Amino acid sequence: MKTVDLIIPVYNEEESLPLFYEETQKVLEQCIGFSFRYIFVNDGSNDQTLPMLKKMAEENGIKYLSFSRNFGKEAAIYAGLKASSAQICILIDADLQHPPALIPEMLKAVSEEGYGAAGAKRKSGFFSRLFAGINNRLSSVKLQKGATDFMCMSRAFVDAVLKLSEKQRFSKGLFAWVGFKVKWIDYVQGPRTKGKSKWSLGKLFNYAADGLTSFSVIPLRIVTLLGAIICFLSFVYILITLIQTWIFGIVVPGYVTTLVVLLFLGGVIVLAIGILGEYIGQIYLESKNRPLYILEETNLDEDKNEKE
Ligand code: UDP
Ligand code: MG
Repeated sequence: MKTVDLIIPVYNEEESLPLFYEETQKVLEQCIGFSFRYIFVNDGSNDQTLPMLKKMAEENGIKYLSFSRNFGKEAAIYAGLKASSAQICILIDADLQHPPALIPEMLKAVSEEGYGAAGAKRKSGFFSRLFAGINNRLSSVKLQKGATDFMCMSRAFVDAVLKLSEKQRFSKGLFAWVGFKVKWIDYVQGPRTKGKSKWSLGKLFNYAADGLTSFSVIPLRIVTLLGAIICFLSFVYILITLIQTWIFGIVVPGYVTTLVVLLFLGGVIVLAIGILGEYIGQIYLESKNRPLYILEETNLDEDKNEKE
């Protein structure tokens, strides 16, 4: 019997939980040779999610961790993986956008076919394709287009991910960074069953910016390069102006040139400071070394989850 932990980050999922459990259970019952355990990570829900989890713990023996407030899905993923001791971990959303029907194929890939992990991949939307495209150009950690964090991971894979102890976590990048052979399985993502998505455009922008700056310093290099090019162009222009002055004497016009150069350089400087700032922000947050989350309660063996 191989042990498998399902790790499910949940934030205000009271409407999805029963259906999720029912649907997943149907699939798991057909997987022979595995013993499953559910670990729900309650990410500071302010609805009935926690009471429901407690009830499910009594009735069905599920496990849960509960945070003292909302720390974000990334923290929930980390907490869940850390709490797991199984030979295989499956990370899955509670809203059934990650179809449990893929689980048997994923398990087969990891337990029989020698993959380090198996992930679900969907036809990616415009923004996610754009992001992966930019990222893959700027970073040595390549992201699979359309990759989701619906992943089935071997113990070795999980241990490797847990070794990356950074506070600004970008799981898709971390999963790519650790390497291993990953089997990607295509699926079509339906709409959320119940409740609403917790993402907004602003959150997505932040996510993309964090993702880029935590895996690549190429934006900094681009700034350096831009600076060098501007210096070179300015030098050429200075020479031209000097020569013009020597030949024709001082000519007064130049209002447009001055304005254009001023505005352009102003823009470049602010942009450069912004990019620098992004990295300083990362250093700032890492240097505080705060825990990723505060655990308020759990029904997993206490000693294992005391810290963090
Ligand atoms: N989630 C979480 N903490 C958050 C936001 C979301 O644990 O701050 C969970 C949520 O309950 C769900 C999963 O992460 O199980 C994916 O969230 P959502 O469906 O809102 O994201 P989307 O599918 O739109 O990417
Ligand atoms: Mg969703």
